[in-house]
Amino acid sequence: MRRPAGIALLAAGALAAAFVAAAARVALLQDSAPAKEAGGSPMNATSDTALPRYSRSAHDITPLPRERVAELASRLDEESYRITQKAGTEPAGCGTLLDNKREGTYVCIVCGLPLFSSGHKFNSGTGWPSFHSPYDVDHIAEIEDRSHGMVRTEIQCARCTAHLGHVFKDGPKPTGLRYCLNSAALKFYEKGEPWPPESRPVETETAYFAGGCFWGVEHYFQQGPGVIDAVSGYMQGHVDHPTYKQVCGDDSGHAEAVKVVFDPKRISYRRLLEAFFVMHDPTQLNRQGPDVGTQYRSGIYFTSENQAKEARAFIQEQHESGRYKGRRIVTEVEKAETFWPAEEYHQDYVVKTGRPCHIADPWKK
Ligand SMILES: [Zn+2]
Repeated sequence: MRRPAGIALLAAGALAAAFVAAAARVALLQDSAPAKEAGGSPMNATSDTALPRYSRSAHDITPLPRERVAELASRLDEESYRITQKAGTEPAGCGTLLDNKREGTYVCIVCGLPLFSSGHKFNSGTGWPSFHSPYDVDHIAEIEDRSHGMVRTEIQCARCTAHLGHVFKDGPKPTGLRYCLNSAALKFYEKGEPWPPESRPVETETAYFAGGCFWGVEHYFQQGPGVIDAVSGYMQGHVDHPTYKQVCGDDSGHAEAVKVVFDPKRISYRRLLEAFFVMHDPTQLNRQGPDVGTQYRSGIYFTSENQAKEARAFIQEQHESGRYKGRRIVTEVEKAETFWPAEEYHQDYVVKTGRPCHIADPWKK
């Protein structure tokens, strides 16, 4: 199961939030303080070598390279540039989106990432557009801001590091948070209006693999560069809502399998097949090492004719490569039937338990 991409940032934010509570009263006053000119952001997550990262809502939030941010920022008007690139603040009550009551989504003015929804907007009386929740927590980076002799939590766009405003702990239910925004950092799309490609989630593809015990297979697929989510589950059996006990009893017909949701623009199906064959031994029939039973069979369950063709060609190629020294590859290739996610305690099992995983890391160079 995917781990939140913004977890490190959120953890930093949580620390900062502890200080924010103490500074809340001051912060209220600060809302009407003059524009902040911090002269650059304390977090420069932008990098040229960043691995792909995805949010819960399947948006590509890989930090943009500095050059790309500079290029996008050069198209902004003066006010948006000052606010997003120089951590500026617009005067209270003047923002164009303050009184906007239309239904829709607010995206980053620089890179287009969706940041807030009209359903979370409320009138805070501060003079700045306010929201109690973000569109997706992974889209907002929280940074400790110690400028002006105070400790506040700055919010930035997680993808391009544009300065957006601050978040305070004096908001309404359900979060108790007040995301205080600058209108000039946002662009609004009314409900029904088409979004540009940079605002849309990635178009994903799904693949399924069974390679013995799913704990390690899920663990390593999750780390694939371009993999959005890997989930442990059961499939190709004949019982609905199977439990681990039923599957282990070897009478439900299911295989322990891993669902892999990926971004085909970042990683190919072929690369996933290669990784799968590193992670398990496709010549073992109905077992993987010490795990014996049909639930541990080797299988590729395709979701399209293209995947079926690629999987069969790949297996043929492996046969011919001589890599398996005459041993027969027994991997079954079938159309994917219903995938039943496994019980919660099986998800992220390797990370949760800290148990060492003995299968080979397929991404190691
Ligand atoms: Zn952005």
